[in-house]
Amino acid sequence: MSFPQRLIDGYSAFASGRLQSEQNRYRELAERGQQPEIMVIGCCDSRVSPEVIFDAGPGELFVVRNVANLVPPFETQGTYHGVSAALEFGVGVLKVKHIVVLGHAHCGGVRAFAEDAEPISPGDFIGRWMSLMAPAAEKVGARGKLSRAEFLERLEKASVVNTLDNLMTFPRLNKLIERGAVAIHGAYFGVATGQLSVLDRATGEFRPAKK
Ligand SMILES: [Zn+2]
Repeated sequence: MSFPQRLIDGYSAFASGRLQSEQNRYRELAERGQQPEIMVIGCCDSRVSPEVIFDAGPGELFVVRNVANLVPPFETQGTYHGVSAALEFGVGVLKVKHIVVLGHAHCGGVRAFAEDAEPISPGDFIGRWMSLMAPAAEKVGARGKLSRAEFLERLEKASVVNTLDNLMTFPRLNKLIERGAVAIHGAYFGVATGQLSVLDRATGEFRPAKK
């Protein structure tokens, strides 16, 4: 199969449009390196692209995306830690000032966890990865009288809060947060409405950001 024509067409539109207006910025960024102040931890979901939602240009956001925007707690055992490596670089080298965990509605990863979905492959990578949100699910408790949609939204939002807790387990980052050098935030994107909500950590509520 050849390289997707959609990408060739998209690149062509980029090269004749956005690249034209941002060529200087790209050159400058190439010379002096990237210095994004904001790191976003988002989901792989194709509907929830941080650069699109936040209208960001090149060099503005340091983004790590994974299934269901999770961060495993700090640990030095094991082998390959993609999120920890991105955090290490974002915090230690780029010295980002903000880390935003961006959850979203209709998250397939959260739904797979909630519905205890059958493994897709023998490796059950999603199942094992999504077990990271078990503490969040415990806090939410049973579905009770909530509709399926309401329950999943609660889980999605609780998982964002749990991920913020996991960020606090990274010793270096923890110190920077306590010193006020780095702030961590939770946010939630409503895919159908396009509404962004921001977590008020004092109350635990997600409040709609102004459109
Ligand atoms: Zn998702």
